[in-house]
Amino acid sequence: MSLFQFVFVKDDDMSILDSKIPEGPIANKWTKHKNDINVVNPANKRLIDVIVVGTGLAGGAASASLAEMGFNVKAFCYQDSPRRAHSIAAQGGINAAKNYQNDGDSTYRLFYDTVKGGDYRAREANVYRLAEVSANIIDQCVAQGVPFARDYGGLLDNRSFGGVLVSRTFYAKGQTGQQLLLGAYSAMNRQINKGKIQMYNRHEMMDLVKVDGKARGIITRNLHTGEISRHSGHAVVIATGGYGNVYFLSTNAMGSNVTAAWKIHKKGAFFANPCYTQIHPTCIPRSGDHQSKLTLMSESLRNDGRIWVPGRKDHVELIRSGKMSPVEIPEEDRDYYLERRYPAFGNLVPRDVASRAAKERCDAGYGVNSTGEAVYLDYSSAIERYGKTEANINGLDSSDVDLVTKLVKKVIEAKYGNLFQMYEKITDENPYETPMMIYPAVHYTMGGIWVDYNLMTTIEGCYAAGEANFSDHGANRLGASALMQGLADGYFVLPYTIGDFLAAEIRTGEIPNDTVEFMEAEAEVRKQIDFFVNNNGTKSVDHFHKRLGKVMWDKVGMSRNIPGLEEAIEEIKEIREEFWKEVKVPGDADGLNPELEKAGRVADFLELGELFAKDALHRNESCGGHFREESVEVGGPQDGEALRDDVNFRYVAAWEYKGEPRDAVLHKEPLEFYDIELKQRSYK
Ligand SMILES: Cc1cc2nc3c(=O)[nH]c(=O)nc-3n(C[C@H](O)[C@H](O)[C@H](O)COP(=O)(O)OP(=O)(O)OC[C@H]3O[C@@H](n4cnc5c(N)ncnc54)[C@H](O)[C@@H]3O)c2cc1C
Repeated sequence: MSLFQFVFVKDDDMSILDSKIPEGPIANKWTKHKNDINVVNPANKRLIDVIVVGTGLAGGAASASLAEMGFNVKAFCYQDSPRRAHSIAAQGGINAAKNYQNDGDSTYRLFYDTVKGGDYRAREANVYRLAEVSANIIDQCVAQGVPFARDYGGLLDNRSFGGVLVSRTFYAKGQTGQQLLLGAYSAMNRQINKGKIQMYNRHEMMDLVKVDGKARGIITRNLHTGEISRHSGHAVVIATGGYGNVYFLSTNAMGSNVTAAWKIHKKGAFFANPCYTQIHPTCIPRSGDHQSKLTLMSESLRNDGRIWVPGRKDHVELIRSGKMSPVEIPEEDRDYYLERRYPAFGNLVPRDVASRAAKERCDAGYGVNSTGEAVYLDYSSAIERYGKTEANINGLDSSDVDLVTKLVKKVIEAKYGNLFQMYEKITDENPYETPMMIYPAVHYTMGGIWVDYNLMTTIEGCYAAGEANFSDHGANRLGASALMQGLADGYFVLPYTIGDFLAAEIRTGEIPNDTVEFMEAEAEVRKQIDFFVNNNGTKSVDHFHKRLGKVMWDKVGMSRNIPGLEEAIEEIKEIREEFWKEVKVPGDADGLNPELEKAGRVADFLELGELFAKDALHRNESCGGHFREESVEVGGPQDGEALRDDVNFRYVAAWEYKGEPRDAVLHKEPLEFYDIELKQRSYK
């Protein structure tokens, strides 16, 4: 019997996915699973090659760990160094259930918060495992030398993030991702130096190669020379990040893309919940049509900042016309709408809730910039509070406003320094003196490649980790949980679970890369590249990407409805058809050609976009980041809030590729909740 025990059970025209969750009580599942699964003995690990595509936090951690264990790793990234992965942008922090604050945190509480935060659309067993290994991640990173912030006694400090009632977020100023990535990168470098990791920088994966149904290799393009090459291995790990750039404008790095995930989807990996997108509430508002990137202001700022809009329309007009400054608006005329609507969580409600509330106020005409799409994030009360405390600590006069302001800069600098500086550089406004303006923007994708409990996709031997998989966040990710999940996958889950598959590969021998499967995949890649450089159309790649992004934002964005989604499906198809006729890619294929790189990525976004809208249309409920206008609470204490439909939609939607995105076939993974009671999510 094949080791691959992926099971379908027929349910009308759909099948039900088996995620292979281990039996037993939730707290024992992971330990039991680790005891039960196959492992590869140390000598045999030398006979196994593992390809890891992506060396951000998930892929970097996986590469370092697998090489440390003795496997031969071939690692790929499109940047000039793993240090430049998008993970470097992560600002606010990483969660872990360490309970250092003695505020009642525990594995169970982190598990509970994550399942609730994800609006009960995540797999319980995976989330529990994530919470369980979270504490190990911090120990691992501290051992690597990651300089987490410390409190006055020298112990690791924590701050709070949205959607929780404890402080469990570990941080390194506003540069947590960068510091964690340096840790993972140094762990990788040790293995690169030993020859256990062969590092392929500036290599983009263009396709997956399957042999006898198993993932056995990839085709890459060297982004400097244009050289196409074949790489073989006994297993392939995809850790290529999220696909938020399908919206064109997002907080993601410009290069973030869906290509690797989409290529494996086309070869048989199911794509799960593509419509689950996170729109982050605290980003610098868009300034015009010529922008190509949006900037996040970390959620950590909501710890101390208060969000508001003017409560009076005449004040809004005066502000927009520049005749009034926000600091002139008296306290009683300000609408702290999150504190008003959600007294229990206030400014720390989860991201989906905070984003929708900002949109609601702006749609009602209270937006504070010229586009009408901005609200205030105000630090004045925190500045006063911190300043007074500092003055008291130093025995100084806490009623002296100038002194308090001077003292507070030190405190803010230590906690959020680079974020304040970044805001000032971009907007030319000083956030110490005037409230910041923020608006929601696309930030993270909870959807992704479907994986089972072992992180294996529906292709045997092909794994997905980090943001690339459909992950543990359900329909909405809590702040500081992406770094936790990526590092959990890379350091603590995959290194165990991949052995279960590889144990049967110790006698396979080296995988040849000159077989017909490799040749055919390479030929397909060359064909697409030839098409792009020879098409000589009339419109740039960005032209199509922007149009796609506009449809996605207007019709598949923060708020979705049936007519809009139906239109989006048609419009995206039309844009795609025009793209293949009219796209123009200057330059040639034999060297550095960023337009050619973009063309391949946008081609895949144009297919993903349609599947995304199809998924959003089929999910006729509101859950987490997916808000359907047809599914809203009417009356009662939750009036106007998102309405989930647990009877009809309590499942993961995993789509099988069948040619055109609209022909994709739905497979369901039912979600069972044994340890957490399904409830209406309330933050009031
Ligand atoms: C501005 C910002 C701030 C954030 N702050 C936080 C935070 O404070 N806390 C938190 O938990 N999360 C945060 N997040 C989310 C978090 O940073 C990401 O989810 C996480 O870093 C993703 O890590 P990853 O390893 O999965 O992917 P990435 O870091 O995106 O790495 C992807 C890797 O794949 C490679 N790659 C991609 N495609 C290919 C291809 N075809 N061929 C070869 N290589 C390829 C890239 O080169 C790269 O090495 C933030 C996100 C943003 C945008």
